[in-house]
Amino acid sequence: MAEGLPALGWAARDASGHLSPYSFSRSVPKDDDVTIKVLFCGICHTDLHIIKNDWGNALYPIVPGHEIVGVVTSVGSGVSSFKAGDTVGVGYFLHSCRTCYSCSKGYENFCPTLTLTSNGVDGGGATTQGGFSDVLVVNKDYVIRVPDGLPLAGAAPLLCAGVTVYSPMVEYGINVPGKHLGVVGLGGLGHVAVKFGKAFGMTVTVISSSDRKRDEALGRLGADAFLVSSDPEQMKAAAGTMDGIIDTVSAGHAIVPLLDLLKPMGQMVVVGAPSKPLELPAFAIIGGGKRLAGSGTGSVAHCQAMLDFAGKHGITADVEVVKMDYVNTAIERLEKNDVRYRFVIDVAGSHLQGGAA
Ligand SMILES: [Zn+2]
Ligand SMILES: [Zn+2]
Repeated sequence: MAEGLPALGWAARDASGHLSPYSFSRSVPKDDDVTIKVLFCGICHTDLHIIKNDWGNALYPIVPGHEIVGVVTSVGSGVSSFKAGDTVGVGYFLHSCRTCYSCSKGYENFCPTLTLTSNGVDGGGATTQGGFSDVLVVNKDYVIRVPDGLPLAGAAPLLCAGVTVYSPMVEYGINVPGKHLGVVGLGGLGHVAVKFGKAFGMTVTVISSSDRKRDEALGRLGADAFLVSSDPEQMKAAAGTMDGIIDTVSAGHAIVPLLDLLKPMGQMVVVGAPSKPLELPAFAIIGGGKRLAGSGTGSVAHCQAMLDFAGKHGITADVEVVKMDYVNTAIERLEKNDVRYRFVIDVAGSHLQGGAA
């Protein structure tokens, strides 16, 4: 095998999840590959679960990161869609089989042999390493163009959190001006869903378990209403008023009170992933013909459309930008939900060799 591209990142070696500097090599770029210098990479809750082996599928050492924005440094001879100097993004996956039902229908995010950007296995059997690193090599068909003018640190989380809420909004028609959208949970996913909903021209209600984020939701984020899900009076008053609901909560919670908020034929989409099964009595969806779906990340086409839409409307995630040597502290804070709303690592501005790690 030819010698690969030298790369430097930060990796977890075991289930402590502690990250420290890690030298490795990227595959030799092929004719249809784009080589990308990483500028920013968001820290997603998925990264946290993977590095601590919460899902039992960790392939150590793991370089996390799948909310990546960077600049193209070179392209292979078969690439005409990108050139050196272009600003691009890479999301949750960087390859798929291209032949299965999902791939042929443009839902490659549901390909059974999807190659994840981090902690995945590529076609050659090698473990993939993510964006907490200086360089990436990605097939041109899985690279997303970042529109001019979008602030790059705030754009990075859109590659996962953004498309995860945008894709089902578009897919299920929860993006229609004048319709009423409920957003459950105001975190990394939810705050972006509020911004997309408002940009689509919808009436947006944030549904949260406590009153804590009311001022922020109604003020800076521009939501139209705020509903405390633990208050039965408020929930009763809002029953049957919503056309669509995006549920972003990953802690265990009851969904029947949320389904009650939908109008007849209303659509709820679950994008958070509680570890305990959801409880769904049939009557909760039979009455009113309500519809419940799940969704995960989004196709390359949806990801591109989402970034173009974000560029047009100036939508970015609210981020706290940190250097790589702060990443372990950032992960500790993320575990306590102590961030509004996403940590983003300034990868290009960090000394990846690190000091004390
Ligand atoms: Zn993610
Ligand atoms: Zn496929």
